[in-house]
Amino acid sequence: MPKYDYLIVGAGLFGSVFAQRMTEMGKDCLIIEKRSHVGGNIYTREIEGIQVHMYGPHIFHTVHEHVWEYVNRFAEFNHFRYEPLAVYEGKLYHLPFNMNTFHEMWNVRTPDEAREILVKQRAEIQGQPRNLEEQAISLVGRDIYRILIQGYTEKQWGRPCSELPGFIIRRLPLRMRYDNNYFDDPYQGIPIGGYTGMIEKMLKGIPVELNTDFFEDRENFRKMADVILYTGPLDAYFDYCYGPLEYRSLRFETETLDMENFQGAAGINYTEREVPFTRITEHKHFEFGTQKKTVITREYPLEWKMGEEPYYPVNDEKNVEIYEKYRELADREENVLMGGRLADYLYYNMDSVVRAALRLADQEKRKRGG
Ligand code: FAD
Ligand code: UDP
Repeated sequence: MPKYDYLIVGAGLFGSVFAQRMTEMGKDCLIIEKRSHVGGNIYTREIEGIQVHMYGPHIFHTVHEHVWEYVNRFAEFNHFRYEPLAVYEGKLYHLPFNMNTFHEMWNVRTPDEAREILVKQRAEIQGQPRNLEEQAISLVGRDIYRILIQGYTEKQWGRPCSELPGFIIRRLPLRMRYDNNYFDDPYQGIPIGGYTGMIEKMLKGIPVELNTDFFEDRENFRKMADVILYTGPLDAYFDYCYGPLEYRSLRFETETLDMENFQGAAGINYTEREVPFTRITEHKHFEFGTQKKTVITREYPLEWKMGEEPYYPVNDEKNVEIYEKYRELADREENVLMGGRLADYLYYNMDSVVRAALRLADQEKRKRGG
């Protein structure tokens, strides 16, 4: 007889939210996680009294009140706003694209002056943009494309902008105001004391087996619970039978510096292609830290190879087609649920992950009672 109602593969945000909800509804859950820690990519670790975002900078932001209320049950969020800068040939520019950027780029002061240049430069693209390059130029014109987008994007994704989908760049706001907030969402912040603390609070009382890979004992794990929630890569679940889905990977180089303040901002992007990393994160600024030392991380984009950590799905046509074939197989699996950025092969923000996990838990409640 299965011992648990749910076996959850992956202690990332998706698996943790789902486990928390199902436990609250009276179900017995067991989580297995192949890494040595919970939290997946939002994992934070304390170094020199600073919460270090071990898998890249994570800022929580959402428009969904119920998602915001949910995460606030497990952490107190501070008033941090992400206002990153970009460096190109030694000159600093504000992000996202707003009046500060236009002033720095063209020495204009009013929205009308900026609009005049934007309209002129955007006219280079006629009709529907067919790729990221055309999409970017049709949004912000060639100057900003060349200085702030092209080099960064091509090193981040390892492909020319003309071969990338336009939606990647539509994530960024464009504002005719002097406003450097990277996100438009009304609810934003960083959990005080780190994301790991938030996840641990969600998982209170739920058994978690770390350093445990589902594929090492798949048959046995299947027998342990009535239902499995799988949050790992979709192609791995089906033994890559249609070939591997492509990802971009990252290498993080973290160092502690014997100084109080290295760059004066949580994030600075390096938009020249010749600089091998895309950005430097200075972690203490997420929590307005005043420690004597500081911890910084350089982020180097990497081509993903089997065995490396997959970070960003490459949602181009070829990969989406392969994904759909795997999806058909997934839909035929009985008593196996799937979700999260790896199983859904989506460039998900944290709030979308929380939302999707809450929705899945509600569906389960309706289906199986709770
Ligand atoms: P994951 O965190 O990947 O969790 C899946 C877990 O499953 C992992 O812990 C993995 O080890 C485990 N697993 C996989 N296979 C197995 C197996 N076979 N057996 C056992 N365990 C397994 N979002 C934002 O909202 N704001 C941001 O600022 C932001 N910044 C980001 C920066 C970077 C560099 C990246 C890469 C992402 C960023 N995101 C951000 C997105 C955010 O990281 C994701 O939305 C979120 O972490 C996804 O959670 P998940 O549970 O779906 O996946
Ligand atoms: N981007 C860019 N220049 C920048 C920052 C972002 O061209 O200085 C582009 C790049 O293609 C990136 C996309 O915008 O992949 C989305 O940026 P975001 O900061 O949302 O990426 P993430 O934090 O998810 O890596």
